[in-house]
Amino acid sequence: TGPAGTLTVEDLSVHYGGVRAVGSIGFTVAPGESVGIIGANGAGKTSTLKALMGLVPRSGGRITLGGRDLTRVRARDMVRHGIGYVPEGRHVFSGLSVEKNLMLGAYSRPWNDGTRRRLDEVHALFPVLGEMRDRPAGALSGGQQQMLAIGRALMAGPRLLVLDEPSMGLSPKLVGSILDVLLKLREEGMSLLLVEQNAKLTFGVTSSCVVMENGEVAMTGTSAELSRDPRVREVYLGL
Ligand code: ATP
Repeated sequence: TGPAGTLTVEDLSVHYGGVRAVGSIGFTVAPGESVGIIGANGAGKTSTLKALMGLVPRSGGRITLGGRDLTRVRARDMVRHGIGYVPEGRHVFSGLSVEKNLMLGAYSRPWNDGTRRRLDEVHALFPVLGEMRDRPAGALSGGQQQMLAIGRALMAGPRLLVLDEPSMGLSPKLVGSILDVLLKLREEGMSLLLVEQNAKLTFGVTSSCVVMENGEVAMTGTSAELSRDPRVREVYLGL
């Protein structure tokens, strides 16, 4: 699989009933680029990612990847177009083994040498998932479950990984491990779209960020600029 091509999101809107959660937001993620979406609780970050993935209905908007129109692609088919998704709250199958969870991530592909190689890569990235392969996912710690959720998304061989608050509920040390993994994926050329409230993770891994407020883009900038902006630090990241 080559580079992902640029993801473009244009005029994306989400309404729940009559209430607007996201209004006409747009951004791009270039191949190998890592973009963050930050904003206060309820700003519309999760809704933006879900609408991108087709997991909530969009009331408007256009999505393309490498020039290909994905606007009408169903959620379960997004993965075949190279977009992997790590949902907020992990959603691992707690009764199934770690290995079964990983294999489910590759469901859109036949189980073959490619998938086996990918499993080896995931084990190399997260050794604990190899050590605990036969344990039920529910027996893993929160941090390990987050690693499993990322590993599961990688099993489909995405070129763009969309992550919703991977640091949620994790200790600073584990946030550091997630940061290391995302940096490694970036080095390998993976494009990343990251919703995060943790400043260290956001600014450590992204090159630019979109700041959302009330469902709209309030600001965009390089992560270096935004990390120095006192208003961003105070209002959006609670520093
Ligand atoms: P958080 O960090 O708390 O997840 P967020 O920035 O991701 O916040 P969203 O979860 O996208 O924000 O929510 C945006 C707005 O839409 C909020 O006002 C929220 O209450 C509302 N909302 C989210 N999901 C639904 C839903 N399923 N039904 C109705 N309203 C919703």
